[in-house]
Amino acid sequence: MLVVWDCDGVLVDTERLVTRLEAEWITALGWPLTQAEVVERFMGRSERVMSTEIERNLGRELPARWYDALRAASYELFRAELTAVDGVEQVLDLLESAGVATCVASSSGHDRLALVLEITGLAERFAGRVHSAEDVQQGKPHPDLFLHAAQQQGVPVAECVVVEDSEPGVLAGVAAGMRVLGFAGGLAPTAALEAAGSEIFERMAQLPELLGVEADGLGMQQ
Ligand SMILES: [Mg+2]
Repeated sequence: MLVVWDCDGVLVDTERLVTRLEAEWITALGWPLTQAEVVERFMGRSERVMSTEIERNLGRELPARWYDALRAASYELFRAELTAVDGVEQVLDLLESAGVATCVASSSGHDRLALVLEITGLAERFAGRVHSAEDVQQGKPHPDLFLHAAQQQGVPVAECVVVEDSEPGVLAGVAAGMRVLGFAGGLAPTAALEAAGSEIFERMAQLPELLGVEADGLGMQQ
């Protein structure tokens, strides 16, 4: 088995911070969006998709370096406030001690992934096993990134389990032919994750059992 982790929202608690910031910045450009609307439109999608959509709605190109400035502002916020998703370290400890392979497959770019994993102390756990939408032609909801991750890790698709918290991510995992577990502890509506084809779980402590990994004796509380 290979557990393919999305990053934002399942390993690191970035989404609350980022979607709030994005709503403010996009509204300031002249397209008023609430945080919930940002979640619905952009969470789990790549920067490429988001900038194209913003430009289409504004009817003009984004100001020069707008995305760079937004990224810098979000990195500053991460350095101040970012934490790992509650309970995820214990799950990773458990998977590691059970000999279960893991990797990351995220819509974020490699620089950003390196930063958020470093800030939250998770970087070493995934060293050399981080895959980004930058590595493939089409990001989520297309299956390319998950298929790429499986191939790079040398594990057949049928043995991969995806952990996701966004609708495009769940759709991508399903399109790749993988089992998808949808984390309902994030910002996406649970019904959307379920409709997209994932098995829902509410807390990280429930994940080992869903993966068939014995949780006894490692301090996991169901
Ligand atoms: Mg996510």
